[in-house]
Amino acid sequence: MNFDSLQNWISNYERPFLVAGPCSAENEEQLHTIATQLATQKVDLFRAGIWKPRTRPGSFEGVGVKGIQWLGNIKRDFGFRVTCEVANAFHVETCLANGIDVLWIGARTSVNPFTVQEIAEAIRGTGIPVMIKNPVSPDINLWQGAIERIVTSGSEKVIAIHRGFSSFEKSKYRNQPMWEIPIELKRRIPAIPMICDPSHICGNRTGLQTVAQKAMDLNFDGLMIETHHEPDQALSDRQQQVTPSRLKELVDSLILRHATSDNELFNISLEELRELIDKQDSELIKLLKDRMDLIERIGEFKRENNITILQPERWNEIVTSRTDWASEIDLSAEFILRVFQQVHQESIRKQMEVFELKEENGKM
Ligand code: PEP
Ligand code: MN
Repeated sequence: MNFDSLQNWISNYERPFLVAGPCSAENEEQLHTIATQLATQKVDLFRAGIWKPRTRPGSFEGVGVKGIQWLGNIKRDFGFRVTCEVANAFHVETCLANGIDVLWIGARTSVNPFTVQEIAEAIRGTGIPVMIKNPVSPDINLWQGAIERIVTSGSEKVIAIHRGFSSFEKSKYRNQPMWEIPIELKRRIPAIPMICDPSHICGNRTGLQTVAQKAMDLNFDGLMIETHHEPDQALSDRQQQVTPSRLKELVDSLILRHATSDNELFNISLEELRELIDKQDSELIKLLKDRMDLIERIGEFKRENNITILQPERWNEIVTSRTDWASEIDLSAEFILRVFQQVHQESIRKQMEVFELKEENGKM
């Protein structure tokens, strides 16, 4: 689909476009205290969830509709633009009726095309900006699909939020960043503004700076960071929220790099290095083609001699030797393993093709 209508409306803001505020609105005083502390620093959008999608029942599920008025008061008293999470048409209507400036669709909602479509219908014709978090599962098409549904409903001001992906494996992250997914989304939809939510990626305070810096180095447009005046007392996500003063330190210590340079010498040197890379990539592709031709010959040979395509000992030997060779020359063994898994998968596919083709010809 065509994304020509998309506007990078946050490019007018000084980078990073910053969304801050608590995970949840808890009471009016809490929101007011946080807003007072944030009012002295650069915050472009004030966030607070009033309907909270909690993983298990029984935990704090948000204050509901009464919180919308509190957010309206924050907007009136501090001049912040305000944003709230929506997960159905009723939430959208409530936000629209109460002057909420920006909506966001959470990770547990963007995973469901029915719900995203319901939200898309509810915002049709309103022009309200919508931020769309990646779905909990690492499915780029689902994320792209959610964006397409919202853009199709006429919304030009859409932002993608990268908040990491759920996984069964234990790791230092609450949600795996899998940076390759937002990078691929940006390749598919270059016009989409992209912000990173280090809070939900890390699930703790200690990793935030590193993840936020990484997002800046990958040229993300902004950050969403959960902020609470007393994080340890928060009713949701207390381990990951930071105080407004810690937020300021974090943002002030970010190193902001440029996407391009007008230094001619730098541009010429970069161009030369890229030409070298182009040459090597072209050789790499020719080598892979030569390897695949050999695979075809092996496939024919196996078939003629009634030998199976897969021989686990040989595959095992390839894995061991190739990762050893890589380690010897200081190349990541893990990376080479991933490369050879792909190469091996293609080799098997190719040999199956050889087997099937010969069998079909044999029948004729
Ligand atoms: C949130 O931002 O508080 C939230 C619920 O996020 P996510 O949808 O990323 O889990
Ligand atoms: Mn949260």
